[in-house]
Amino acid sequence: MALKIEKGAEIGFCFGVKRAVDILEKVARKHDGIETLGALVHNQPLLKELENLGVRIAESVADVRGDALVISAHGISPQLEEEIRARGIEIIDTTCPFVRRAQVAVRRLAESGFFVIVYGDSGHSEVKGVLGWAENKGMAALEVNQLLRLGQLPRHLGVLSQTTQIPAHFTRFVKELIEATFSKDSELRIIDTICYDIRNRQEAALELANKVDLMLVIGGHNSANTNRLAELCSTVTRTHLVEAAEEIELAWLQDRYHIGLTAGASTAEQTINEVMAKLESMA
Ligand code: SF4
Repeated sequence: MALKIEKGAEIGFCFGVKRAVDILEKVARKHDGIETLGALVHNQPLLKELENLGVRIAESVADVRGDALVISAHGISPQLEEEIRARGIEIIDTTCPFVRRAQVAVRRLAESGFFVIVYGDSGHSEVKGVLGWAENKGMAALEVNQLLRLGQLPRHLGVLSQTTQIPAHFTRFVKELIEATFSKDSELRIIDTICYDIRNRQEAALELANKVDLMLVIGGHNSANTNRLAELCSTVTRTHLVEAAEEIELAWLQDRYHIGLTAGASTAEQTINEVMAKLESMA
């Protein structure tokens, strides 16, 4: 039987990553030896291209060598921003407007006396940055139990999500939080900060995963949104996450005739095409 390969409807760079890469490329062409704070995207081929344009990755603020620094689409905390400016370094900010919206929401909640809970991975740079806007009046968690271990939570809680989480999981988290903490005079403000691109991408991936007998999710192994896509697709069909075409194993294709492809928000069209070509050659 012939192998059928089908691409998801929502694929390629998301709006925020495209915008960040465009800004960086323009700046890199004008400014010799520009640096980014951490990797701009979780995408090795693209990082290589940026390196060829003279872009250097600074691992921390202390590691910055020049006088201008590009902040990724994930954004940073106001405290880190202050630290960078205090060193006389100019900030070129590519924070995605959807991440900025979450940062502003957190600041407003904290200023209004709410303890902020971010549903997300506490180690992820977007979450660390967003939480910084709560000025120590917030925390991140993926499980309600993590919060309950801290003891009695404040009565006024503001809840929002890392932009790349799965909407249904966020809803479940909020329900559990209400069940576990809601009591007399409690007040809960819930803000939906999951980005529309991620929502559409996840829906399209799941629709495709339901039709195929193997899904390949293309993207960085440490990309949060790529991992969420793989997690979602694996609930309905066999799924593998690959960062590059070379990672595909022949054994995966055994007895699989309809293969679906989707990709993370920072996966370049070129990588998707390479995966397609590799699958076709293996077939
Ligand atoms: Fe912005 Fe959404 Fe892309 Fe993140 S995934 S950079 S929030 S558009």
